[in-house]
Amino acid sequence: MDNIVGNGQAGIQLVDSLRTEGYTGRITVIGEEAHFPYQRPPLSKDYMSDAKTPLPLPLRAERFFAGNDVDSRLGVRVTAVDRARRTATLDDGSRLVYSKLVLATGAANRELSVPGSGLAGIHGLRTLSDAEAVHARLAVARSVVVIGAGFIGLEFAAAARQRGLDVTVLEFADRPMGRALSPAMSGYFAGAHERMGVQLRFGEGIASFEGRDGHVCSAVSTAGHSYPADLVLVGIGVIPRTERPRQPGCRWTTGSSWMAPCAPRTRTSSPLGTAPATPAAMPPPAPGWSQCRTPRIRPAIWPGPSWEAARATPSCPGSGPSRAR
Ligand SMILES: Cc1cc2nc3c(=O)[nH]c(=O)nc-3n(C[C@H](O)[C@H](O)[C@H](O)COP(=O)(O)OP(=O)(O)OC[C@H]3O[C@@H](n4cnc5c(N)ncnc54)[C@H](O)[C@@H]3O)c2cc1C
Repeated sequence: MDNIVGNGQAGIQLVDSLRTEGYTGRITVIGEEAHFPYQRPPLSKDYMSDAKTPLPLPLRAERFFAGNDVDSRLGVRVTAVDRARRTATLDDGSRLVYSKLVLATGAANRELSVPGSGLAGIHGLRTLSDAEAVHARLAVARSVVVIGAGFIGLEFAAAARQRGLDVTVLEFADRPMGRALSPAMSGYFAGAHERMGVQLRFGEGIASFEGRDGHVCSAVSTAGHSYPADLVLVGIGVIPRTERPRQPGCRWTTGSSWMAPCAPRTRTSSPLGTAPATPAAMPPPAPGWSQCRTPRIRPAIWPGPSWEAARATPSCPGSGPSRAR
């Protein structure tokens, strides 16, 4: 039996690629979220701009899982991997024996640790549960502060503004999405948001939050300004969830630059473990990307996990055509 840990984009794409390539063995997918596998990108866009709570978009139709003989274990987390015995322990106490284990555990949001970070009304946005909580809060909030002018922060800022809320974005850099976009593109998106009425504050990080009755009421920036906030969205990037592969004896070697060929670097040191590198590693950049400031950027975006999963397929024993490669 093969097991895939993580039922996000990478995990489900890997299932798809394996079956497409003719792999006929059993596949078990393990995901700690109880939700049926869904697409994350809409969560910061239509999901937020629509006052009615939209239904999440599934990654694949239910018939895909039934039709491809996939055993989906939802709402359970892998807590330990014993490579010698080839077993994975789940947090419900059960243990699975694997012939091949693929770690597609994705990323987790970076969290703030400034004073007041624990107040109610301060949210991250990664999972459907996060989105449900933020969406519910949007219905009663008036003033929103977004920490971080990255992709998710700006998408959310636009959606909240579309719904008529006052929105301020704090960004300690001097332009939005500065690690991923050229100055010209940053300027374009800054202008678009400002025309919508979003207040962009560059060169200002978050210093602390102030609360009333346990709920956030304002955000104080590193420049000393206080911004009213009854909803705060923290969008300051992600960190890869490498806690399983980081177990003793298993080296985690994700690709580290734009130019890195992805697949060879995404395998763990274990001969049994393969890990689509997430956050997504990008393929070689297209001409024109030379304006990008850092050559080691790893934007956590959608296409990466799909490519990585497709590239990881040949290393799974028994996957049809790849065996001949
Ligand atoms: C709000 C939002 C909007 C986005 N918008 C865009 C966009 O517009 N365009 C774009 O290109 N990209 C976008 N992205 C990024 C894109 O969604 C990600 O790149 C993609 O989801 C990564 O897929 P993944 O499978 O690698 O990881 P994940 O989606 O993180 O999936 C990994 C899964 O593994 C599970 N897991 C982790 N550890 C364990 C364990 N020990 N046991 C069991 N399960 C475990 C996690 O719960 C998770 O469900 C967005 C992301 C978010 C959050």
